[in-house]
Amino acid sequence: MATRVIKNIGELTTNDPSLGVGVTGRLLDAAIVIDDEHVLWVGPNGEAPEADEMIDARDSAVIPGFVDSHTHLVFAGERSEEFEARMSGTPYDGGGIATTVASTRATSDVELRRATNERLVALRAGGVTTVEIKSGYALTVDGESRLLDIAGNISDEVTFLGAHVVPEEYATDRDGYVDLVCGPMLEACAPKSKWADVFCDRGAFDVDESRTVLSAARAAGLQLRVHGNQLGSTGGVALAVEMDAASVDHCTYLNDDDLERLCASKTVATLLPGADFSTRADCSSARRLLERGAVVALATDCNPGTSYVTSMGFVLAIAVRDMRMDFDEALWSATRGGAMALRRDDVGHLRVGARADVVILDAPRAAHLAYRAGSQLVRQVIVAQGPWSKTGWYGARGKIVDG
Ligand SMILES: [Zn+2]
Repeated sequence: MATRVIKNIGELTTNDPSLGVGVTGRLLDAAIVIDDEHVLWVGPNGEAPEADEMIDARDSAVIPGFVDSHTHLVFAGERSEEFEARMSGTPYDGGGIATTVASTRATSDVELRRATNERLVALRAGGVTTVEIKSGYALTVDGESRLLDIAGNISDEVTFLGAHVVPEEYATDRDGYVDLVCGPMLEACAPKSKWADVFCDRGAFDVDESRTVLSAARAAGLQLRVHGNQLGSTGGVALAVEMDAASVDHCTYLNDDDLERLCASKTVATLLPGADFSTRADCSSARRLLERGAVVALATDCNPGTSYVTSMGFVLAIAVRDMRMDFDEALWSATRGGAMALRRDDVGHLRVGARADVVILDAPRAAHLAYRAGSQLVRQVIVAQGPWSKTGWYGARGKIVDG
């Protein structure tokens, strides 16, 4: 297998504290050797071994590929008018999801794949090399199954989100919809999914309904994730911890009890700065979580209603400015933290043996990603190719995307 050495790295983030300084294991004047699949060597530039090919980083920063652990990439339509109304004072209540359900149901497979691919390419151009993708915009047995087929073509981190909201046709029969999700829908979707998720909040599913869905999903062999505490302290965090979910996402509102439970659990707190930005939400939970020692992940939550964001750089900028995360905390959370939210140990860091997912920046320090918010600072994205690689319809996986 051909090897490549990336030399003259001005600042290398490894996320392994034993390799360098701080939580991000940072090395200056470094080099890294990879083959198509894995990291083979990491160390000082002057000691780098020979390889078949050399990439000159020209004193730029290099980071692990971002692990975007929360997206809703497969959808049709857009909701910019809802965003404008929110910015003018209309509060978010989850109601707009029905708009996206209607447009997604009415869109062909070909068009959905094209639109999903466009967003995937944007994520990847910004340095994302692992992406979780949820269903949730069809809310019928065949429709959810179709969205999962599209997602499964491009990622292994596929999440069944039949319990996103109760669709209009079940508005007067909530129990009937929960039965559908836990019965025929789960039966059709479980073989196509790794994860199950539920939107446990006001306007979506209450704690008991959510527990019913998660229990059925676990019995069907799926691992669990939860959308919780976006709109209030509504019990999603406690339920996620109770069910040993890998991650509870949003965590915008946290009471002391929520904080205590999260910090004593293996459940990662995934913050979604794009959603907080686009709903003008309070951002104070990040520091409370970090100061109590919780594991925090950052993700785009790419969706047409509350976070039409495909840039991890933008996510980092909001995390640093509005959530008051240190840049290194934010970078760690968007890489290693995202991997932990997916219970993965092979991505999100650049130790020997990690997947060769490497991002070369057009900046001398990674902090430029937040400092120069809105700029395209990704020069090159290297995505590991291996037996796990997808050979889906778009052919982008494994390809190098030049920024
Ligand atoms: Zn979401």
